[in-house]
Amino acid sequence: MNVIQTDILIVGTGCSGLFAALHAPKDKKVLLICKTTLEESDSFLAQGGICVLKDPSDYESFFKDTIRAGHYKNRRQSVDIMIQSSPDVIAELERYGVRFTKDAQGNFVYTKEGCHSHPRILFHEDITGKEITSHLLKEAKKHKNLTFMENTTMLDILEEDNTCYGIVAKKEEELFAIQSDFTLLATGGIGGLFNNSTNYPHLTGDSLAISLRHHIALENPDYIQIHPTTLYSKKKGRRFLISESVRGEGAKLYDKYGKRFADEV
Ligand SMILES: Cc1cc2nc3c(=O)[nH]c(=O)nc-3n(C[C@H](O)[C@H](O)[C@H](O)COP(=O)(O)OP(=O)(O)OC[C@H]3O[C@@H](n4cnc5c(N)ncnc54)[C@H](O)[C@@H]3O)c2cc1C
Repeated sequence: MNVIQTDILIVGTGCSGLFAALHAPKDKKVLLICKTTLEESDSFLAQGGICVLKDPSDYESFFKDTIRAGHYKNRRQSVDIMIQSSPDVIAELERYGVRFTKDAQGNFVYTKEGCHSHPRILFHEDITGKEITSHLLKEAKKHKNLTFMENTTMLDILEEDNTCYGIVAKKEEELFAIQSDFTLLATGGIGGLFNNSTNYPHLTGDSLAISLRHHIALENPDYIQIHPTTLYSKKKGRRFLISESVRGEGAKLYDKYGKRFADEV
C-alpha cells in the first residue's frame, strides 16, 4: 500500500477544516482531503448567517439563547469560547475579503434567526456560507504549506494503543495510507444519511462511525438540528432550505390544514 507522509492531516474542507488549516503552524506541512470537490461541503450551502457578540452587554442573553436552543446540554465552555471569540472571527473573515451586509454608514446590519431573542446574525444576501467558505478556500490556497486532495475518502483511522497515526484513504479505486503526526477530523454532520435532507448526500457522519468503532468518546451524537422549513419536492436529491431567518424575522408556519405546528421562536 502506498504511504503519503504529512505533519498534519485535516479530513474535511468545510469551514471547520479550512479555518483550522489557516491556524496551523506555518512551518508544518498540512494536507487537507475531501470526499468530492472542495466546493461541495455544507459550509457552501449555509444561508441565513453567522451569529456574533455585537456588544459585550449582549453576552448573557446570547449565552442563555444558545443553551436554551441546545436544551441545556451544551458544553458551557464551548458556548463561552464561541461567543467570546466571535468578534475576532468576524474581523479575521473580513480580512480574507468576506463581505457582510452593512448600512449606508458602514455599520453591520444584523438579522434574527430561530432561538435568538435579538438580531445578532451577520449575513451576506442569502448565501452567507458560500461567501465565507469561498474566501476561506481562496486564502488557504495562498498558503504554501497547505495542499489539497479532492475525491479522497477516509475509510478508517490508523490507531494503535490509543494513538492515531493517520488514516486509510481511497481515491478512485486505489487504497493508500496517509501518515501524520496530527489528524483532525472535520467531516461535518450526518444529514446525508436521510432520504430527505438539505445536506449533501456524501456527508454521512463518517468520522462519527469511525470514532464509535475505535471507542473514541463522542458527546451527544443523537443531537442534530432538524429544520421545519424545507421546500417539499417529489424529486430525488437535496432539498432546498427555507432559511430559519425567515422564522427569525417573524414568519409563522402552518400545515396543509392551515394549523400552526411549531413553536417558531
Ligand atoms: C442548507 C443549509 C443551510 C445552513 N444554514 C446555516 C446558517 O445560516 N448558519 C449556520 O451557522 N449554519 C448553517 N448551516 C449549517 C452549517 O452549514 C454547518 O454546520 C457547517 O457548514 C458545517 O461545517 P463543517 O466544516 O463542520 O462541515 P462541512 O462543511 O459539511 O464539510 C465536511 C467536509 O468533510 C468532508 N468529508 C466527509 N466525510 C469524509 C470522508 N470520509 N473522507 C474525506 N472527507 C470527508 C466533505 O467532503 C467536506 O469537505 C446550514 C446547513 C445547510 C445544509
